[in-house]
Amino acid sequence: MTNILYVLVEQGVFALDRPFYYFYKSNNKIKTGTRVSVNFNNKNVIGFVAESEMVDLTEDQIKTNYLGIKEINEVIDEEPIINEELLDLAIFISKRYVCPLISCLKAMLPKLLKPSSTFKNAAKPQYFTYLQYIKNGENLTKTQQLVLENIKNNSPLKNSVSDSIRKKLLALGLIKEVKVEKSKTLSFSNEQFESFQLTKKQQEIYEGILKSEKTTSLIHGVTGSGKTEIYIKLIEETLKQSRTAVFLVPEINLTPYLCDKLNSYFNNQVSILTSGLTDSQRISEYRKILRNESKVVLGTRSAIFAPLQNLGLIIIDEEFNDCYKQSDENPQYHTIEVAKYRCMKNNAKLVLGSATPSVESMARAKNGQYELFELKERYNGKSLPNAKLINMNVLDNLYPGHSLLSKELVYAMKMAIAKNEKILLLLNKKGYSSFVTCDECNTILKCKKCNKPYTFIKDTNTFKCYHCGLTINKSEISCECGSNEFTNMGIGIQALEKSLKKIFPFENVLRLDTDIANSVNKISEILNEFNKNDNHILIGTEMVAKGHDFDSVSVVGIINIDQMLNLPFYNANERIFQLITQCIGRAGRSEKEGYAYVQTYNPKSFAVEVGCAQDYDLFFKKELENRKNTANPPYFYVSTLKFVCSDAIYLKNYTYKMHSHVLNSIGNLLETSYVNKKMEKIGYKYVSSIVLKYRKPTEILEFCNEFSKFVSKNPKIQLKINIDTLNY
Ligand code: ADP
Ligand code: ZN
Repeated sequence: MTNILYVLVEQGVFALDRPFYYFYKSNNKIKTGTRVSVNFNNKNVIGFVAESEMVDLTEDQIKTNYLGIKEINEVIDEEPIINEELLDLAIFISKRYVCPLISCLKAMLPKLLKPSSTFKNAAKPQYFTYLQYIKNGENLTKTQQLVLENIKNNSPLKNSVSDSIRKKLLALGLIKEVKVEKSKTLSFSNEQFESFQLTKKQQEIYEGILKSEKTTSLIHGVTGSGKTEIYIKLIEETLKQSRTAVFLVPEINLTPYLCDKLNSYFNNQVSILTSGLTDSQRISEYRKILRNESKVVLGTRSAIFAPLQNLGLIIIDEEFNDCYKQSDENPQYHTIEVAKYRCMKNNAKLVLGSATPSVESMARAKNGQYELFELKERYNGKSLPNAKLINMNVLDNLYPGHSLLSKELVYAMKMAIAKNEKILLLLNKKGYSSFVTCDECNTILKCKKCNKPYTFIKDTNTFKCYHCGLTINKSEISCECGSNEFTNMGIGIQALEKSLKKIFPFENVLRLDTDIANSVNKISEILNEFNKNDNHILIGTEMVAKGHDFDSVSVVGIINIDQMLNLPFYNANERIFQLITQCIGRAGRSEKEGYAYVQTYNPKSFAVEVGCAQDYDLFFKKELENRKNTANPPYFYVSTLKFVCSDAIYLKNYTYKMHSHVLNSIGNLLETSYVNKKMEKIGYKYVSSIVLKYRKPTEILEFCNEFSKFVSKNPKIQLKINIDTLNY
C-alpha cells in the first residue's frame, strides 16, 4: 500500500500556503500532524502531514495519477506531534489573523520541534532502550543463560549487552526491547503548601463560574483579593472530572513561586512552558504533556497551544497584559481569542482575571458576553495600600541632591528599613528607553514637530525623536527656560542605583529586569535574595510590578511613570493606570500596612491620578468615553497593514498606491491613515503602515486575504498584517 500525503511546507509566501503532494510506501497510515522530510524546490525541508490517504496502486500508477509526485525522504516522528484539535486550531488562527498555516503550526511547537527549512534542525525525541525479560529458554549456552538472568533481574540498557547475544535472545522471544523517552524535566522545590478553604465570597464566584452558561468569565478582583485561590479550586474541580487545565500568566518571573504552589497541590501533574526554559527542558515538558502525564500546564502566551487532551479549563491571569498579543511575528494572535476558540471546541471554561481588566474585556463583560464577578476586598479584610501622588516639578519635594527621588519616598524607605520591612521601586525603562529633562526646570524636552519626547543618542551626541525621525545636535538645543543643561533620564536604572547607594550606603540594592533575569533560575535567585532578612530594597522594571505575592513589602515607589504618558498607543492611559495600580498592589499584602508613592511630573494626568487612587470603576467609565470619542476599541476594530522594504522611495510610492487601493476596495472604512517610519532594522529596512478602522471584521478579513495574495506577488515588499493591533 502507499500513503498519498498532503504536506505543508515552510513557505514565506502566503500564496503558496497550501499542501503539496508526496507519496510514501508503507502499509501503515501516516497520521496527520506527523513531520516528514521532503524535497521541495531542490531543498530538503521539513513539513507537516496535513492529510493522508491510503491507495493500492503501483509506483507507476501513482506517478501517472498524481502528476509530478515525489517520494518523501523520511518520516520523522513515530507519533504525530500535533493532534487534530490543534491542527483545526491552526486553521482557525490562520484565517482569523490572515497568516500562513505553517506559521501557526510553528507557533504551537517548542523550538526544537518546529518545522524548518533546514533539515538538520529536526529534533527527534531521545530514547533509552532497556531490555526486558519475557521467559526462560531451553538449550542456551552458559553465557546466554547468565545474560538472561541479568536481564531478568536488572533490565539493563540495550548497549550494555553484547550484540550477538541480545539478537539471539530477541530472536528466541525470551526478551524484548523497551524504549523510554529521555527526559530533562524541571525540578520543583517540593515545598508543601497548606490546604485552604475559600472564603464565602470566593466560593460564590467559584460556583458562579461552574454554573454559568457562558464560556467566558471575568473576575475583577482587587490586588490581593485571592483570585489565585479561586483558580486553584477550579483546576482541582477540572482534574476531578478527568479533564485538564491551562493556566497562563504574562511573564516568566511569576512562575517559580506559582509553579511550586501548583505542583504541591496537583502532585507532579504540572508542566511549565515559558520562554525561561532551555530548549531541551521545553521539549521535555512538551513531551510529558503529549504523553498525558501532565494535567495542568502553567505558562506564558504560547502555552495556550499546550497539546493537552480533554481540556476543561483555561485561566488567563492579568488578562489585560499586552504580552498576550503576539506582534510583528506571525501569527499575530491574541491569546484570549485563541483561548475562546479552544474552549468552545472543547466545551471548556475560560476564566479571565485581573485587578485592572482591559477596557475591551470589561466592556464585553458589561454587555453580557462574559459573566462578570467582582471581588472588591482583599483577603482577610486587609486594606489597600495608602497611595500618594508626589509632584516632582516642585523642587522642595525632591530629596536634596537627588533628582530621581522625593523626600517623602526616601523617608518612608528609611522608616521601613529601620523596621526591617521591604521596599519595591519601579523604574520603567523597557522599550521607551531614554528621555531628557532640563536640569533647571525639570521639563521633559520634546520634539518641536510632534511634541513627543526626545531620546538622547550617546554615540552621536544628538537628540532624536523616534516618532518622526528628527535628529538635532545636543549643542543646538536649549529649553524654553533658557537653560541648556540636561539630564539624560534614560540611564534610569544605573542612575537610580547610584542615588540609592549614596543615600543607603549599607544596603544591598537588588535589581530585577529582563537584562539580568532572563532565566527562571536567575529570577528565583534574586527573589530569594530579596526574601532574606538583611536585604530590603528591590528595584526593577515592569517585571516587578505585577503578580508577585511578596510577603513583607510595606513601601512601594514608582519612580518615573511619565515616560509612558507619551506612548503613541490608543491605550496609553490604560497601560499607565494598570501599571500604577498593579505596582501599588504589591504593598501591604501581609500583616504590615502598605504605603505607595507615585512620583510624577504630570500630577494632573487623569491616568496617573486615578491610578494612584486605585479607582478602577472611575477609570473605566472615563476611558470608555474617551475611546468612544476617539473611535477606538471597543467601539471600532483597528488593524494595520505593515510593509517592509529595503528601498525607501519605492516603499513610499507603493504605500501611497496601496492606500488608494484600500480606500477603493473597502466600503465601510471609518478611517485610514498611513505612516512612514524609518526604522533601523537588520539590513536597514524601511517600514510603512496603513491603519484600518472599521466596524465589520468579516469584510476586512476577506479583503486582507485577497490583499495578502496580491502583495505576495511583489518580491520587493514584505507584508505584515496585524489584526486587532494594540500597537497603534
Ligand atoms: P490576587 O491573585 O487576587 O492578587 P492572591 O490569590 O495572591 O491574590 O491572594 C493574596 C494572599 O491571600 C495570598 O497570600 C493568599 O495565599 C491569601 N489567600 C487568599 N485567599 C485565601 C484563602 N481562601 N485561604 C487562605 N489564604 C488565602
Ligand atoms: Zn518628532
